[in-house]
This record gives sequence, C-alpha cells and structure tokens, in this order.
Amino acid sequence: MRRAALALVAVATLAVAGCTEEAAPTPPTVTVTATPDAVDPFADFAAPELLSIPGAVVEGLEVEHVEAEDETHVAFASYPLIPGAEDLTEALKASREDQFRDFVATEHPAQEGVLAELNISWDLVGSSPEVIGVRLNSTEFGAHGFDGDASTHWYHVEADEVLPGTALIDEAAVDSLVAAVEDEATGDPRIDPALLEQQLAGGLDAFDSIAFTADGELWVEFDGAQVSVSNRAVGVEVPAEGHLSEFGETARTAALEPADPDIPVPEPTTAEPAPLDTEGTPAMIQGDDDVDCSQAKCIALTFDDGPVGGTNDLLDVLASRGVHATFFMVGTNVKAHPDVVKRIHDEGHVLGNHTMDHKQLTRLNEASIRDEIASTNALIEEASGVTPVLLRPPYGATNGSVATIAAELGMAQILWDVDPEDWKDKNSAVVTDRVLSHAHNGAIILSHDIHETTRAAYAGIIDQLLADGYTLVTVPELLGDMTPGQKYFRR
Ligand code: ZN
Repeated sequence: MRRAALALVAVATLAVAGCTEEAAPTPPTVTVTATPDAVDPFADFAAPELLSIPGAVVEGLEVEHVEAEDETHVAFASYPLIPGAEDLTEALKASREDQFRDFVATEHPAQEGVLAELNISWDLVGSSPEVIGVRLNSTEFGAHGFDGDASTHWYHVEADEVLPGTALIDEAAVDSLVAAVEDEATGDPRIDPALLEQQLAGGLDAFDSIAFTADGELWVEFDGAQVSVSNRAVGVEVPAEGHLSEFGETARTAALEPADPDIPVPEPTTAEPAPLDTEGTPAMIQGDDDVDCSQAKCIALTFDDGPVGGTNDLLDVLASRGVHATFFMVGTNVKAHPDVVKRIHDEGHVLGNHTMDHKQLTRLNEASIRDEIASTNALIEEASGVTPVLLRPPYGATNGSVATIAAELGMAQILWDVDPEDWKDKNSAVVTDRVLSHAHNGAIILSHDIHETTRAAYAGIIDQLLADGYTLVTVPELLGDMTPGQKYFRR
C-alpha cells in the first residue's frame, strides 16, 4: 500500500482498563480559545449532555494511538479496539487513515511557530452484545482555522457490520425527523438557514452523524461548514420517540444501559489469515505501481457478476477512453463466455473471482468455500491464462474461514466503499448520479456489468470522473501490494 508523505512516528496500543482519561467525553463542538469574531454564536450555546460510556464497560478494550508529523503538520488519533468487533475496527482504522490523508493533502500556510494540527478522539456511545456505537470527533486547525467533524459508527455485532447513523432511523419516519431537525435548527444562530435548507433537501443522506444524548434523545450532528455559520460541527437534539428503527431501539438500549458486548474472539490459529513463507513473513500479493495513487486522485471501477455478452459494450467504452477496470466474475458466466474473459484480460483489465455461482460464502463449510473459489480460478485461468489473486465474496459476506481460505489460495478480499445499488434501480441516470455524488479519492466503486442500464451509464460516468481530475485505475494499482486473506474496502 502506498503511503502519504507523512511519516508515522509512533504507533502504540495501550490497555485502557480503568483509565478513563482515554475515553474522556469530548463536547460536540470545538471550543475556540481565540476567536476573531466579535460575537461568537457558539459561545452562548449550551449543548445537551452527550453520552460517553466508560471504556471499562468493555472487557479487554484497548486503545490504538497513531501519531504523525512532518515539517508543517502534526496529527494524533486514538480509537478503541473492541475484541471481536472486526468490521468496527476496520471502519475506525479506515476513517483515521482517510482523515490523515486528506489533512496532509491540504496545503496549510505556515503560521508563526504553529503547525497545522489534526486531532481525532473517540467516545463510546453504545455498548451491548447487540450493538456498539463509537463516535469519532476530529478537530483540525489549519488552512481554514478550526474545522470540526463528528462521525458515529454503529456496529451490528451479529452481522459483523458497521452501519451509518441513518440505520437508527425508521424509514417511515424520515420526513418527520427532517421536519424535527428543521424546527430545532431554525433560529439557531449557529446555523446558516440557506445551508440548512440545502443540506436537508438530501433527506436521510443529510445526516452524517447520529447518536444519543444522555437522556436518550437523538443527537444529529453536521460536519463543520455543512450547515454551520463557521467551520465548526453543529448538533441539534430531536426526540427519539417515533423516529427509531428496530436497530435504532436496540442501539438506544445499548446507549442508556451499556453492557459488555462480550463478543467471542476466534482462536488465534484461525484469526491469522496470512500464510507464512519460510522466512516467517507473509507472502504479499504484488500490486501494480504504474500509477502513483499517493500523488494522483485515484478511483478503481469494479464490475461484478459477469461476464455476459453485453460486457463487450462496456469494454468498448473503456477502450475508447483508455481506462482499465477490475472485473469480479462468476464462474458459471466465465464458462458461458470464455471469449469475453479473454478479451477483458487482453485489453489490460484485471480479472477477479466472484465465486462459481454467487453463493453467500459465510453459509458454507470450508470445503465448499474452497471449491467455490478454486474452481472459478481454474475456469478463469483456462479462459485467459491468468489466475486471479483478487476475491470478492458475494454480498461482501465474509468471515474467518473465508479469510483463511483466501489466504491459502494467495488471494486478497476486495470489498468496496461506493455502492450505487445499480441492481435495485435499473436506471442509468440514478446510477450516474449516485456514483458521481459519492466518488472520492481512493474509492472502490461497485457496479454490475450484467445490467444494460449500468453499462449505458458508464460512458458518461467515466467522462465526468476524468473531467473531475480522477485517474481511473485497477484494484492492484489503487492498493499496491496486498496481504493474502485481508479485506480491503478502499485505499
Ligand atoms: Zn455479485
């Protein structure tokens, strides 16, 4: 994986048992000590008491600390490591890496004796055997003065899946919630009415971070500059009653009556996916360094479930723009269209494995998982001459067994972070809009070349992404060297 210029100077993992400083509650808005404005609308605002559950509730909780600096930047982040909560740890790590990267990528004019600073801290905002909530609070002092950001990650324990705050909200109550937020925010001197109106037009997507107050009401936060009159994050309190989904109710209980999630942690022998070579170091999957994605703004387009005859149309579009993508193919379709598989490879795209018949691997025993993957690799090899090193488990469903088998087969698990749900809305304009509105540096975008509407959307999508300055790359170009068995969501 390519790294930003910023050097990590210290990475330490410290036990937190009984140490409440690590989990000290952080107010939702940044306190600025020296404000140039004569009147600070934030000064008079009394925020409700927000939840911050002591980390000691979670047995075995540790805190990861990451510190970095160069000549003009300093950054410090801490976030919790909750035993067994794999996807949550991944999500917090990815968020931290993202923020460090964006921070370093921004020019910060030198100020006398003061370096640009990024600080990421955390609060545990829910904890139970069903749900864990972690809010990351970041404050940045740099080119734009103070910037405040909050994001809350809600972890569904049984599914090993991180959900956004919007998962707390009942779909039928979205309009009512939007109205309640609008009500609460109207007349608040911290909030710019025009920005608010614009933000709320996005419906549920407007809400970046949703958590609970100490009284169990909803606390809806907006990042700095989204609706705020300054760059500071803004939150409003709205009633929880009538707005929560079933998951939201469970999360509220986890917030108000915190308990040890006590997630079973797999035995270390199965938790170690990377095979060791004779030197004792994991054999890495080689990336492709044709493009330096630490410098270029890179996006990897990925297409699943094919190939089908119509994939040829998409290949024409990609060829006409000189763009390469990654195709995760289903074995039964490889068998039906070996000529298309060969064309995909011959034209410089990367071939990936999406199992023989698109079964959810987490429901299968180890022998069946191995067979699903290995037999597809054999078909792809037969058609193209190359053996895939990238696996995309159908539905993104994976677990320790899948990781171990992927590692045995020398394959990395490639998931995604932008999903236009093109299978749900077979509408080119909708797909285009969703891809473009969620595109960002380092993204892995998921689409399906089996849908005519998706294939038709991509000429326009690619032209716009190129016009926006993105370099479109394959997954090995985006990620660089990869560890067998490991899950990757984005760069
Ligand atoms: Zn699929």
